[in-house]
Amino acid sequence: MIFKSRFPDIEIPKIGVYQYATSNPSGIDDDKHIFIDAMTNKKLSFGEFKRDTKRLAAGLVNKVGFKRGDVLAIFSTNHLDYPTVVYGGKVSPINPLYTVDECTYQLKDSGASVIIVNPSFLSNLIEAASAANIPKSKIFLFGEEEIDGIRPFSSLFSEKEINPIEYTPEEAKSTTAFLCYSSGTTGKNKGVETTHYNMVSNLAQLSAFEKGFTHETSSIGFLPFFHIYGKVFLLHLIILKVYINNKVANVIPVNLIQTHSSPHFELEIFCRAIQDYKVNLVPVVPPVILLLVKSPIARKYDLSSLRLLISAAAPLSKELTNDFFKIHKIPIKQAYGLTETSPITHLGETDNIIQGSIGILLPNIECKIISENGQELGCNELGELYVRGPNVMKGYLNNKKATDMCIDSDGWFRTGDEVYADSQENFFIVDRVKELIKYKGFQVAPAELESILLTHPSIDDAAVIGVYSDESATEYPTAFVVLQKDINQSDEIKEEIKEFVSQRVSNHKKLRGGVYITDQIPKSPSGQKPEPREHFKDARAGARN
Ligand code: AMP
Repeated sequence: MIFKSRFPDIEIPKIGVYQYATSNPSGIDDDKHIFIDAMTNKKLSFGEFKRDTKRLAAGLVNKVGFKRGDVLAIFSTNHLDYPTVVYGGKVSPINPLYTVDECTYQLKDSGASVIIVNPSFLSNLIEAASAANIPKSKIFLFGEEEIDGIRPFSSLFSEKEINPIEYTPEEAKSTTAFLCYSSGTTGKNKGVETTHYNMVSNLAQLSAFEKGFTHETSSIGFLPFFHIYGKVFLLHLIILKVYINNKVANVIPVNLIQTHSSPHFELEIFCRAIQDYKVNLVPVVPPVILLLVKSPIARKYDLSSLRLLISAAAPLSKELTNDFFKIHKIPIKQAYGLTETSPITHLGETDNIIQGSIGILLPNIECKIISENGQELGCNELGELYVRGPNVMKGYLNNKKATDMCIDSDGWFRTGDEVYADSQENFFIVDRVKELIKYKGFQVAPAELESILLTHPSIDDAAVIGVYSDESATEYPTAFVVLQKDINQSDEIKEEIKEFVSQRVSNHKKLRGGVYITDQIPKSPSGQKPEPREHFKDARAGARN
């Protein structure tokens, strides 16, 4: 059967993301603050945001020859300057913790021609930009200072403002607004072409669904803006601010947890900001909920302003939800989606939260559940989730083969997640049938780690899987390797392999689940990739890493 949303379809405006974010039907004043940096208390008003976006658009065109279709890369943690730069052409946000090689790959693959970078990550970026042949004159910094000849992005501002491009309905549908990276169901990271229409759709779908957000909503932008989950939240809150005539300022302390120099989560700063800014709605990932349950720090602060947590990006157990509620008396609902669906397709209803469920379909989205042998299933039957709607990406950048593998000619997108729906059509995620591993909400592509392992001189073959750790409420990347014949199995070689990988990848991709030695890696019929991956989960049960 085809599952339809309970909501009537809504009209989706066919305009650019900037036009949507600034259409301001409720007449918000230009001097209202839409973002506050909790680390510095610096503020950005709606008027400043619009003015600087237009000055930047003019400067990009007039000072660095940026043309329609060009790609602007952003290499930064969350920052008060972020909202101003996300409308500059096609934007490809890069994880600032990426190694030089990882960053170079995205710069080259996306075809970025101009980069805006947070000064804390400048040295890696300069190396990567040089490897991608992007001159220093096309690199600009967040903030006000010039460093080593690299100028602040405000040096691009032109006094004569121009509006970011206004798109016709056809252009809005076909023009890419964002290029986030995802490994999808298989293989390495690919550029996900999210069009203006895709993004506006998801924002409009969320606005129609979400009664939990009101003009008094105050929230925290701590989820990384380089990930689509953080980005939709960033954009949504500008729009929310604009659409609902605010009496109380939304508090979006940008760069809250990811302090200016440290990109790591700091529970103390997070809790203090909730207390000081009376935050009432927070989007989170499950490991943050675990910390709020376990850490004594969470009890030092007054979190009573919180009304709701929204958990997404990774599985959340019923037990953890219950433990959290017992301590804090705050409900958690889930959201579900993928980078490829811009991102949200399912969301819990605030006044009817079903424990363990990812919620119900957003308006304008339909889905089906498909069995292993291709049959469409009904309620209470387990299969792979397929979705269709205006928020499904245009495709993977320059990769028709990968696009065709996940979107069929009728527009159905294959998620790689195993689900069922109860008789009320609440959806539940049971497992992931694709290769992807998620460490604390961040993607880890097994294919990427496998190709690194294969360059180790002692390794003949390798497979990487995710192993869930209850202790940290996340999956750990875990390697299985076949050693070359003359290499002795020992704890030293396993440690050396772990270290070998650590030196070549960013923090979230490290082999935290350990290295296991095995005799053979079963392969897919084409012989190209390890399969079935279930084999390794069984093998691990009987082995010692
Ligand atoms: P990404 O493209 O990085 O957002 O990753 C998308 C994947 O994250 C999905 O295909 C799921 O495997 C996983 N995911 C997202 N939301 C949830 C959720 N609420 N529960 C379980 N897994 C989720």
